[in-house]
Amino acid sequence: MKLPIYMDYHATTPLDPRVLGAMTPYFTQKFGNAASKSHSFGWEAEAAVTKARGQIAAILGTSSQEIIFTSGATESNNLALQGVWEAHGKKGAHLITCVTEHKAILDVCKELEKKGAQVTYLSVDSQGRIDREAFKSVLTDRTILVSLMAANNEIGTIHPLEEIGSITRERGILFHTDAAQALGKIPLDMERMKIDLLSASGHKICGPKGVGVLYVRSQNPRLKPLIWGGGHERGLRSGTLNVPGVVGMGEACRIAAEEGEAESDRLRTLRDRLYTELKKGLEDVLLNGPSLNDRLAQNLNLSFPFVKAEALMMAMKEVAVSSGSACTSASPHPSHVIKALGRSDDEVHSSIRFGLGRFTSEDEVDYVAKRVVELVKKIRGASPAYQMVKEVSSREPSREPLIKSLGRAK
Ligand SMILES: *Cc1c(COP(=O)(O)O)cnc(C)c1O
Repeated sequence: MKLPIYMDYHATTPLDPRVLGAMTPYFTQKFGNAASKSHSFGWEAEAAVTKARGQIAAILGTSSQEIIFTSGATESNNLALQGVWEAHGKKGAHLITCVTEHKAILDVCKELEKKGAQVTYLSVDSQGRIDREAFKSVLTDRTILVSLMAANNEIGTIHPLEEIGSITRERGILFHTDAAQALGKIPLDMERMKIDLLSASGHKICGPKGVGVLYVRSQNPRLKPLIWGGGHERGLRSGTLNVPGVVGMGEACRIAAEEGEAESDRLRTLRDRLYTELKKGLEDVLLNGPSLNDRLAQNLNLSFPFVKAEALMMAMKEVAVSSGSACTSASPHPSHVIKALGRSDDEVHSSIRFGLGRFTSEDEVDYVAKRVVELVKKIRGASPAYQMVKEVSSREPSREPLIKSLGRAK
C-alpha cells in the first residue's frame, strides 16, 4: 500500500489507464479536427467521436444524436438551465430545484431569478430526500423545468428519478438531472425515467477532466445555446471538439457500463467495512445523510462531534478526504448540504466525506479506519468539553442526549 491514500472520489478521480490508452493516439498521430469533412484526418477523428457518442448513448439507454459534448457538468448544467430559460422562459416562469443541489445548479438559478424567473428550492429531510407531496404541491401551470440531481455529491442521496419523471412528463414540464455523481454508479435510463436533459462529467468516472455531456432529448426541449459559432453539436455547442477528451469519456462510459455494477458491489463492501471499523473504534459517530443501503455505494459522510474536520485532516495529511467545512468549490463556505439536513454548525464543521472508487483497496480502508480512530480519540482526549460531557453522561445515563446537543466541534 502506498501513501498518500486518495479517498475523495466525489471531487475527482484518477484516469483509468485503459482510458488513457484510448486517448493517446488522438493527441499525436490522429490529431484531426472532427469537423474537417475533406480529408482522412478529419474522418478519422469524426469516426472516433461517433464511437464515443455511441458508448455514452448506450449507458444512458438512448441514441447518439442526443449526446452533446461540453467541457464538463458545470457547463452542461448551465446549458440546460440557461438554454431552457432563454428558449421557453418569460418573466414569472417557474423552475423547481432543491437546496442540496451542486452550486453549478444553484448559482445558475440565482442568475435566472435576476432575469425574472421564479425558483422554488425544495427542502430535504434529515436524509437529504425531498418530500413527494411537497414536490407535487409546488408544481404550477407556469412551471417549465424541474432540475433535481440524480445522486448527491456529499451524502450520496439518490432522488427517485423515475417517479419525478413520470410526474413532470404527465404535466408537460421538462425534467433535467445532474448525474455527475450517478453515471456509472446507478442505472440511468432516459426512457424509463422520462428524463429530458442530463448532465455528466468525464472526470467523475475515471475519465479525463474538461469534458462532459449534456443529453438533450431530440424531440423536445428546444434550447438556446450559450456558445455560438460553427454550429457544432446540433448548433447547441459550437467549437472544435476536444477529440481526445471525447474519446476518453466514451471509453470511461464503456468501462462503467461493463463493470459499474460489480464495482459498486465491491465498494459497498469496503465502504461498509470502513463504517463498521469506525463505529467499533469510536463512540459518538454521526452518519450524515441516508442509511448506507439508500445511498451511493461509494459514499460515507460522518460527523465526529468535538473534532473539527480541519484539525483531523491536518493531522492526517497522508489521507485525502474532504470536509463539509471547506467544500469542493472555490469558496470556503460550510456545506449547504450538511446544513440542509438539520445539522448544527458544529456538526457541519466536524463532518468528513469519504469517497471510495475504482482504485480503493481493502488495505487502504483499514489504514484510514485505524488512523481516524486514533486521531479522533487523541483530539477528543485533549478536549475538556468532551471530557465533561462524557463524565456527565456516565454518571447520569439518562442525559446521554447531551452529547448530541453539546456536540461542539472543538
Ligand atoms: C463534480 C460535479 C459537478 C461539476 O462537474 P465538472 O465537470 O467538474 O464541471 C456538477 N455536479 C455535481 C453533482 C458534481 O459532483
